[in-house]
Amino acid sequence: MLHGPFRYLLTFLLVAGMAACGRDDGAPQGESVPAPVQGSVADVDAERLAQAANDANNWMTHGRTYAEERYSPLALIDEHNVRTLGLAWYWESDSTMGTEATPLVVDGVLYSTSTWNLLHAIDAATGEELWTYDPAIDRDWIRYTCCGTANRGVAVWEGRVYFGTIDGRLVAVDAATGKLAWEVQTTDPTKPYSITGAPRVVKGKAVIGNSGAEFGVRGYVTAYDAASGEQAWRFYIVPGNPADGYESPAMEMAAATWNGEWWKYGGGGTAWDSFSFDPDLDLLYIGTGNGSPWSRDIRSPGGGDNLFLCSIIAVRPDDGEYVWHYQAVPGENWDYNCTQQMTLTELEIGGEKRKVLMQAAKSGFFYVLDRTNGELISANNFVPVTWASHVDLGTGRPVEIEENLYGVEEGKRVAPGPMGAHVWHSMSYSPDTGLVYIPAREDVWSYSRPANYEHKEMSWNISLNPDAAVAEGVMDFVTKGYLLAWDPITNSEKWRINYERDWNGGVLTTAGNLLVQGAADGRLAIYRASDGELLWDMPIQTGATAAPISYAVHGEQYIAIAAGWSGAVPILGGGGTTPTHNAPMRFLAFKLGGAAKLPEPAGGRALSLPDFDASDETLEQGSALYVEICQTCHGINLVSGGMTPDLRYMSSETHEQFQAIVLGGSRSAQGMSSFADRLDSGQVDAIHAFIVSEARRLMDGRR
Ligand code: CA
Repeated sequence: MLHGPFRYLLTFLLVAGMAACGRDDGAPQGESVPAPVQGSVADVDAERLAQAANDANNWMTHGRTYAEERYSPLALIDEHNVRTLGLAWYWESDSTMGTEATPLVVDGVLYSTSTWNLLHAIDAATGEELWTYDPAIDRDWIRYTCCGTANRGVAVWEGRVYFGTIDGRLVAVDAATGKLAWEVQTTDPTKPYSITGAPRVVKGKAVIGNSGAEFGVRGYVTAYDAASGEQAWRFYIVPGNPADGYESPAMEMAAATWNGEWWKYGGGGTAWDSFSFDPDLDLLYIGTGNGSPWSRDIRSPGGGDNLFLCSIIAVRPDDGEYVWHYQAVPGENWDYNCTQQMTLTELEIGGEKRKVLMQAAKSGFFYVLDRTNGELISANNFVPVTWASHVDLGTGRPVEIEENLYGVEEGKRVAPGPMGAHVWHSMSYSPDTGLVYIPAREDVWSYSRPANYEHKEMSWNISLNPDAAVAEGVMDFVTKGYLLAWDPITNSEKWRINYERDWNGGVLTTAGNLLVQGAADGRLAIYRASDGELLWDMPIQTGATAAPISYAVHGEQYIAIAAGWSGAVPILGGGGTTPTHNAPMRFLAFKLGGAAKLPEPAGGRALSLPDFDASDETLEQGSALYVEICQTCHGINLVSGGMTPDLRYMSSETHEQFQAIVLGGSRSAQGMSSFADRLDSGQVDAIHAFIVSEARRLMDGRR
């Protein structure tokens, strides 16, 4: 029996093409609650955000500050009293679809997206919902996402809340009333773009990227006037067709590093997650994505670095003018992206204070850059890496391991694989310990490209040949997950916390010497930040892949998290995570002495499998269609980590309505859109027969 993440990673690739679905020294620390900042969300502006590091009560921007440290200076909850931590309140979504959101808290109000891009304002002390805004997304658009519809959060600015939608809009909502202020379509709706990342508002401009490099799009970042929604600038990440002219000198420079007719494939480079901002240098940093399609031989025959794939780019926030870039993976070839969190701080390196930018990239290397000019200071692998032997500090370039480069014929085992060493799960830098805490995973894949690649519109376009992976036995590889405590000065590991599962959540550190992380085994865990000793944990009935935050209201400190599964590993893997932990997505807030209780987990599920008289041929047809159409959302074992319904346990009513659901779209409001455009009634019967047969097989095998 194939098992582990490689089996579902394999499946992920098999179905490709058919997707259906420096704190300041004066920062408050220690014993007392900092004096509350008088004001409201209407006062969140450039001046207030510049002081965010000292504004301990609040969490006003994605990484708490523009430096994206994810470190709270609050210390009312600390390593000595954290044992009395308990649930203060919870807010429950009506959906198990995932979340990756970092909530913001401003002056006692929590603002966050939940499932399906719904936006909420919630009393941060009580959990009482103040308002909800529904952007009415096109839920069918889930078929143009790699990993569900999860959203990573919001920005606040001068009384408004900003967020992106899966169907490519940037939306501004009045923070007091929950009413729409403005919205813009930031993507071409005829192309398979989506948005999962949180916007940032910098100097009055709301900045948003997009996703879709697995589908064949051209990535860019757009800035809009936060007040009016008028477009201020757009920075393209990869060049278009030179015959159409270049949008900027940066694109002219980039085009010289491409070959062939890459624009027909989109090119990729989508900036789908990270931004950071240094107000003193007046630089906005953009982390860019992988190439589209993945194989550089197909994308840019004849080679080339393919700027600005997998790069960190510094631009001027006023007009998007290019200043510098560091390309971590020239000629990106493995679905490596540099969209991971970029944390800014000052480090003393070689007797010199350096303004640095730090990133634990998907490629497995931890990079420390001089953020004034993009110079590489150091790079070291934080997990086993076999695509490159090291990064040459003289040239700043990785030294690829030639014998591991893949071609058409044979699969080449490479670590990390496409699920990465570290993806969007947030890391944290504690200025107290001087350590960066990285939710890391080991991942291996066997790469090869198809002999005859065919680009398809509005479809997966990742250019991998899964047959070679099968031949390589990639599914037997073992993966691991751990929380690394990393010294950014020596660029090396200090210690680690090992997990049994590999898809663990984002990280928070606090001045109370706390290190907080949601674990894939269904717990929220708190460790001593200085040495990793487990201080407290609690079952939360789901994974928690998003990052925790901390804030204070009325003199009490809270630790909060948007709890729920998300990402390709749980949605595809199902059994690879913890499918028994399938609570609806919730916001959970904890405080000392908190005594709230989560409801009892839903249980007592009964098997209700109808009898089918299906031929082997029908079952085979159903199996192939399931893999092609259903599996990206319902998982390889009919289980999707609790995010979509466990198909083994469909009720008799669901079995009776199977055709109406799949063809009639009767559950489209829950995200199960009609597939009448892809399937006929006989094919749906075949899928149904396969699901029932497979459910019997799986359940028999397990009990
Ligand atoms: Ca990708």
